[in-house]
Amino acid sequence: MRLYDTSTRSLAELPSPPGPVRMYFCGPTVYARAHIGNARPFIVGMWLRSWLRATGYEAALVHNITDINDKIYDAAPGASAELAARATDWYLEDTRDLGLGMPDHEPKATECVPQIVQFIEELIEAGHAYASGGDVYFRVSSFPEYGRLSGQRPDQVEQGEEPSALKDDPRDFALWKANKPETEDTWWDSPWGRGRPGWHIECSVMAEQIYGPAFEIHGGGLDLVFPHHENEVAQSRALGHQFARIWAHNGMLRFTGEKMSKSAGNVSTIRETLDEWGREAILVFFLTASWRKPIDFSPETMAQAAARRDTLRNAFTQEPAAPDEGRWQTLVDALDDDFDTPAALAVLHDWAGERQLDLLRRGLAIFGLESLAEREEAPPEVVDLAERRARARADKDFETSDRLREQLAAQGWQMRDEPGGGYLLVRDA
Ligand SMILES: [Zn+2]
Repeated sequence: MRLYDTSTRSLAELPSPPGPVRMYFCGPTVYARAHIGNARPFIVGMWLRSWLRATGYEAALVHNITDINDKIYDAAPGASAELAARATDWYLEDTRDLGLGMPDHEPKATECVPQIVQFIEELIEAGHAYASGGDVYFRVSSFPEYGRLSGQRPDQVEQGEEPSALKDDPRDFALWKANKPETEDTWWDSPWGRGRPGWHIECSVMAEQIYGPAFEIHGGGLDLVFPHHENEVAQSRALGHQFARIWAHNGMLRFTGEKMSKSAGNVSTIRETLDEWGREAILVFFLTASWRKPIDFSPETMAQAAARRDTLRNAFTQEPAAPDEGRWQTLVDALDDDFDTPAALAVLHDWAGERQLDLLRRGLAIFGLESLAEREEAPPEVVDLAERRARARADKDFETSDRLREQLAAQGWQMRDEPGGGYLLVRDA
């Protein structure tokens, strides 16, 4: 299997099965209900794990929770820890309700502070970091590869953070920040005084704590390449750790053509999208675009995804054709080539059209959509309408039959004639 790697800007070959393929995907900063764009790295990571396991790999996914961050202090002055705990629960609930299972580990920054302090001490000892005024900074000039991941020359990298008089070089970035008592209500003790870790070091440490100094894939949104991932690479590689071999960055979700942002005020949360469209439509929506390309979220694109979901579901009201197992390979070809889900979705639609229902069921299961193969039972009042309509048709009372058909449609159901003279109740597409 091949996957696009940001660090080499080319397709990277995965090791042959069983691997292992250990994946670390950056998770959310928890200070509010996560927006639907935050679901993408989670879904991509869970789908990759599912596909790799289905093809004989030992695959694991770590998805971290950033529960120490400026955004949390800003959002809940005096109660930041409570907000972070609540928002962590929201995120776990919302992602669980996507129905893809859960990652193997979801470490929290607050649970790793002693290991973070130790990692920083090693960087200072090795000459890659320095303490300054209660802060600790990474010395960018000590790491010649700096800028390579994001494609910048080390002497010309843009500055990722606020300038500070405490830095020796404006490119240097914080590993540890001294506590600011007026705005920050949580802190940890360290050799440099009370403070808290910087965001980038949290991820280097959480990844290495679980996987050790080398693992196969590091994922996250394309907006994290610089400075977040550039800094993770610097911290870990400066200590001689190989760190991630492949960098898999997912494309951003845009709201009606523009990248969703809090400032633009056009955010839909995962929860709102689940409530409005259901998890299956969300999953089909994310299948429609390549994982590393932008994807446009709007009522129109979600309605299209819901219609495709209905087409896939309604395929199971047909009599299956004779199974053609050899065609499974077309799905393998699509997914092993840079995890091309739009091509995979086209294959699933082909199978739906050709009544290859066993293949379709197996293919849907890769993406958490096996529920589409379970025919939904119509509620009793719908069955009653259908029975009355069947009788009206038998009596050639077409006026009543048409009226009942409209009532069924209003409830989202359709009667489909069966060869033997009976009918099936299916969800309206
Ligand atoms: Zn991260």
